[in-house]
Amino acid sequence: MELVTLLYTGLLKINRESDEKLGNRKKYIGSSDIAGCPRKVVLEKQTDSDPDIATLIRFTRGHLAEQFLLAGLKALPKTSFSWKYQKQVKHKNQPYRAHIDFLFESQGTIGVLEVKSTSGIPREPYESWVIQLHFQMGLVKECNHEKTVKGAIFAMDLNEAKIKIFDGFQYDSIIYERLLLKARHIWECLNDPTMEPVTEKGPLCAWCKYRPECPAYEITDIPELPAEEQLQEFLGLKEHRKSLNVEIEKLTQFFKTGISNTNPTGRKIKVKEAILELGRRFSRKVDPSLKNDYPEIYKKYIKETPYEVLLVHN
Ligand code: SF4
Repeated sequence: MELVTLLYTGLLKINRESDEKLGNRKKYIGSSDIAGCPRKVVLEKQTDSDPDIATLIRFTRGHLAEQFLLAGLKALPKTSFSWKYQKQVKHKNQPYRAHIDFLFESQGTIGVLEVKSTSGIPREPYESWVIQLHFQMGLVKECNHEKTVKGAIFAMDLNEAKIKIFDGFQYDSIIYERLLLKARHIWECLNDPTMEPVTEKGPLCAWCKYRPECPAYEITDIPELPAEEQLQEFLGLKEHRKSLNVEIEKLTQFFKTGISNTNPTGRKIKVKEAILELGRRFSRKVDPSLKNDYPEIYKKYIKETPYEVLLVHN
């Protein structure tokens, strides 16, 4: 048996076991469904295909991240708060549910914690994470009117061993009402094949297997290149490059400050064997006032050379 097949079988087994605890996802709208594009959610619920290996690895990575916190909580001595893992909360009369990763309860307050395993921790939480959390807080509030409901997102990058907590979220009735409308739309589309689910374009479209034929991307009269996979990879890498640039810039500032603080009279420091130096470079630019002060000279020496860029309209 091929190793990849073995891995796929193992991942599928682990994910099916955890899915069984969640019940048949086709029979309800979950908080992760609310975070996504309605068209994608409806099509996923209407098909029976198993996820691909990359998706299964991502799911398993998510379960693994939760296990670290779970082990920590179990090791705690007696606490002043109570907690539950994978707590199911349901809407009182609609088929809407959430399986809350961690739910904490102390006098008068309930805290909802959503755990996210991610590759590269974003500066701000992704919109889909926040939407999911708001839906969860809304469902919790429905059954606990008298309590304050708060929320947080715990992001972990297992590869880089980095974590970040995004907190300070609170139940918001206006956001929740809007999300209930979205849940109703998805549910109606699932039960009425004549209804067209709305599309919600976003960065995750790059990985969406329903992108071919997606009305959000209908382009007519333009010749087509069959390179969907390469385009998805390209868009994904561009997103990754953006977050890498942010991280690189943060570390550059960290080391620049480090050099100034550690060696205030010099420009070098050592980190193990490596030497870090504050170098100096000069950039040469034409003063923009040249255009106004000497328009003739400006016109004579400014050359416009066309070059090509790749624009992706999505
Ligand atoms: S490509 Fe984007 S807009 Fe279209 S179904 Fe997929 S997620 Fe939704």
